[in-house]
Amino acid sequence: MNFSAACLILVLVVKLSCVATMKEDIKNWTVEIFQNGKIVCAGVLLNRNFFLTLGKCIDKRKLDQYKVTIGGGILRKIDIVLEVIIYINLLMSKKGNLSNYTTSFNQVIKKIKNKDGKVEVETEGGTKYEADDVIVTFSLGVLQSRQVSFKPSLSKEKMLAIDKFGFGEYTIAYFEFSDAFWDNVSSLVYAPARHGENSIWYNMNTIYPGCNILQLVLMGFEANAASHMNDNEVKESGLAALAAMYPQISIPKPDAFVRSDWLTNPLTKGSFSYWTPAFRPEDMKDLGKSEGNIHFAGEHLGLKSHAYLHSAYNSGKDTAQRLARSVRD
Ligand SMILES: Cc1cc2nc3c(=O)[nH]c(=O)nc-3n(C[C@H](O)[C@H](O)[C@H](O)COP(=O)(O)OP(=O)(O)OC[C@H]3O[C@@H](n4cnc5c(N)ncnc54)[C@H](O)[C@@H]3O)c2cc1C
Repeated sequence: MNFSAACLILVLVVKLSCVATMKEDIKNWTVEIFQNGKIVCAGVLLNRNFFLTLGKCIDKRKLDQYKVTIGGGILRKIDIVLEVIIYINLLMSKKGNLSNYTTSFNQVIKKIKNKDGKVEVETEGGTKYEADDVIVTFSLGVLQSRQVSFKPSLSKEKMLAIDKFGFGEYTIAYFEFSDAFWDNVSSLVYAPARHGENSIWYNMNTIYPGCNILQLVLMGFEANAASHMNDNEVKESGLAALAAMYPQISIPKPDAFVRSDWLTNPLTKGSFSYWTPAFRPEDMKDLGKSEGNIHFAGEHLGLKSHAYLHSAYNSGKDTAQRLARSVRD
């Protein structure tokens, strides 16, 4: 059996110190994580005891600083945090046994071919893997970009569904200063004469006191415009907005600046999926349907909960179980 995992992601399985007992608590699967009273992350409830969140969300050395609410209910403490690495882009074969598998990291896939009842996957380095079935978990943005070629081409209905669903343009930039010159509030909104000029800022001091970092959030056309600018241009444009927001202050140069590249990164090509007016619930069937022995999973395939980690998790589980059933049958 051949497995090939292009990337892996660290998630945390977190045990609550106090079991959720009331029915109404667990009807809502969302979990909010607070650190020192400020919300820092979200998670998804696995059962009454455990929830799942991203690796970056909780510092295991500081567990006493965290509290959790289920669906906005009472605050609970965290008991134990388990780190789990999830492998993505698994290639599965109907033959062979589990003790005889290989795992390949950092392989960028360029071509996927349905060939004589098998699937051949080719990386950009020219390595070829063959399997009876393949589960593809590229983001919707990667599928929309056509940078991975499918042979034969994906069906018209599937391509239409891929193109009709939206994949968000979202960029975050961080400015670190030696001192905080801004108001001590959690978010700052700049309302310039022209719409869309670096309007949304978050004060990271409210989450990490003393870090003196401002987070600039650019969405939609603003993120798109920033993707055509270099780091310095994005930085200067942000600083100009801060100068307009605080005209009485001479805005210092930041000590550090960093920004995300989700829109241009060939492994993401955007941030998370969203419904467009053109997309109908029926289109979700085409979006998720298998093409020959090529199967699909990912965040964008959740009818209600797309755009979140639990949607990726559930979709991966559903596709893998469907495939496992067909292998057994
Ligand atoms: C800024 C931001 C904040 C978020 N916050 C939250 C949150 O608080 N809670 C939450 O639940 N969700 C959050 N999400 C959403 C969550 O991250 C996604 O829903 C989830 O990661 C999607 O998982 P996925 O497996 O479908 O896709 P991805 O995580 O995109 O995984 C796809 C994988 O495919 C790989 N890949 C792509 N192309 C190729 C190729 N050609 N060859 C090989 N490998 C390839 C990529 O490297 C990637 O590892 C956030 C997303 C963003 C962008």
